[in-house]
Amino acid sequence: MINDHSDDMSSSETRANILALYPEDSREAAALLKQAVPLMVRHNIPPNPVHYALWYTYSKGQDPELIRHLDRVVRDFDGCPPEAATRLFRQYIIRDELEDARAEQHQVINLVDGMERDVSRSVQGSLTFQNRLGQCLEMLDEPASDRLPGILSELQQSTRLMQSQQEHFLAQLHSAQDEIKTLRDKLQRAQLAATLDGLTELLNRTAFTRLLEQALGKASRGVALVILDIDHFKQFNDQYGHPLGDRVLQHVAQVLRGALPATAFAARYGGEEFCVVLPDCADLGSACAFAEHLRLKVQSLRIKARGTDTVLDTVTASFGVALAQTGDNLETLLTRADDGLYQAKRNGRNQVHALRESAVSQP
Ligand code: GH3
Ligand code: MG
Ligand code: MG
Repeated sequence: MINDHSDDMSSSETRANILALYPEDSREAAALLKQAVPLMVRHNIPPNPVHYALWYTYSKGQDPELIRHLDRVVRDFDGCPPEAATRLFRQYIIRDELEDARAEQHQVINLVDGMERDVSRSVQGSLTFQNRLGQCLEMLDEPASDRLPGILSELQQSTRLMQSQQEHFLAQLHSAQDEIKTLRDKLQRAQLAATLDGLTELLNRTAFTRLLEQALGKASRGVALVILDIDHFKQFNDQYGHPLGDRVLQHVAQVLRGALPATAFAARYGGEEFCVVLPDCADLGSACAFAEHLRLKVQSLRIKARGTDTVLDTVTASFGVALAQTGDNLETLLTRADDGLYQAKRNGRNQVHALRESAVSQP
């Protein structure tokens, strides 16, 4: 890397830091820009908003992935082509994952745009001042002491101008930090919403899969997976209508939420199918006991007509359980839990079934 102050930053720290990406006060922000600008000059990077944001973040040194990526681009292209800059900006600065967060992203871009104008004005002010200073010093070499008051007043004027530009820039930086924080909060809320299922507010399948993969990556053993599927749900919908069916799904989700141990997570995996992961489960027996507890809770739900105490029906669900073995991956674990669920359905529904043997060969 070109800078040297972040080699030991772990990526988990980095992720946590993303939550407060720009906490610097004006003085620190200005210091970071001072580091960023010479780097941009050295690598012949055009001074536009996207590059300012990228190199500012680079100079902060808190995102090793961005640093590595940017170093690689600069090395490979001997600079940073616009398409690469835009891609890096989206990937590392605004974390462009969501269509519905576009508005906020545009606001961030506009904000950076405004800051760039102010940086340019400030840099221009410094250059003007430097030139004036140079001219004045040249004049001082000449035998022209009668011109000294004029020279001094000119210097004073330039200094005042530069000072007001700097103050304006600092004020802009300050308010930009607040705005960036607000926008980032909005983006985070949008990102969170995108990980949830709209009807049940449990994790959606995509987010669930990612979390399960992470859990399996951390520990090859002790990760238990419970899959449950509501019994004869088509029939329920046919009899009571889809809206009431939706409410059943919400009730089942509530059962799962209420029963989750601290480290566990639950998801709506598909239509009327749910998953629960227990990331540090002692053995298959404990996972089955947990599934049995859920089964009884679902069975004891009383589905009532809206706004009345009249019980219309009850629902049941079937459960498949699997415990990760050494060598398991997402697919083998899901398949084994799903096979358990299939057996539970075949054996008459409203029951828990676990497959003991691993789907992968043991070393
Ligand atoms: P089994 O006991 O074998 O699981 O029978 P089943 O009827 O539950 O299974 P099947 O796969 O035949 O039907 C699943 C039903 O789930 C069909 C579909 O209408 C219903 N379903 C899926 N998603 C939703 C949803 O979001 N809302 C409602 N109300 N129903 C849904
Ligand atoms: Mg199903
Ligand atoms: Mg079903």
